[in-house]
Amino acid sequence: MISIKTEREIELLDIAGKIVYDTHQYLKKFIKPGITTNELDQLAEKFILSNNSIPAFKNYQGFPKSICTSVNDQVVHGIPNDYMLKEGDIISIDIGVCYKGYYGDSAWSYAVGNISDEKKWLLDYTEKSLYEGIKMVKPGNRIGDIGYAIEKYALDHNLGVVKEFVGHGVGNNLHEEPDVPNYGTKGKGPILKKGMVIAIEPMLNLGDESIYIDKNEWTVYTCDGSPSAHYEHTVLVTEDGYKELTKR
Ligand code: MG
Ligand code: MG
Repeated sequence: MISIKTEREIELLDIAGKIVYDTHQYLKKFIKPGITTNELDQLAEKFILSNNSIPAFKNYQGFPKSICTSVNDQVVHGIPNDYMLKEGDIISIDIGVCYKGYYGDSAWSYAVGNISDEKKWLLDYTEKSLYEGIKMVKPGNRIGDIGYAIEKYALDHNLGVVKEFVGHGVGNNLHEEPDVPNYGTKGKGPILKKGMVIAIEPMLNLGDESIYIDKNEWTVYTCDGSPSAHYEHTVLVTEDGYKELTKR
């Protein structure tokens, strides 16, 4: 069952989304060579808690930290640790918060200092692929229209589309129906309706699409060692289109 949110639920999801956005804005000032991913995690956790909300990922199915920090060839679910960022790295930061029982979820990839042209390409076109997907959100369109748009755009720019992890509904659970894959067929899949809330989150690789999961059972890596990027917004289906709840 894909839930249709009430006005009150949408208000709470909107606030949760704003806190996620604000956390990204706060955190990005610290993304520089020399900071550890643990330090970023601590900064984010304090910021989220000081905004009357809870870091949604902490203890989620046993995840040990408040945010995900995925560096270079890590695709998603990187666990903050003592790794110190260095010039030329890219880092994908995934942030989820729970505000009065309602969730917001958004990931963004950032350059650490100066990065290679290849990595710039990856970040630029992965971000654009997210908006290609978001543009398809309106009542009457289908989940497959979103995935088709993202996959086509990614392939047109020679990027590998990770298929094992997908976007999802968002509400009073972090992950709800429907799945929102980053691939699909136009006109297929569940129909979008006003009041649905979904997270769209392309994960694209500079190389091949294949991935593996680390022995820590969380962190996802590209098999070929190529860098990977991840961009995500939580989006409300409105009367005639969409509103990005995690963007201001
Ligand atoms: Mg996320
Ligand atoms: Mg998500």
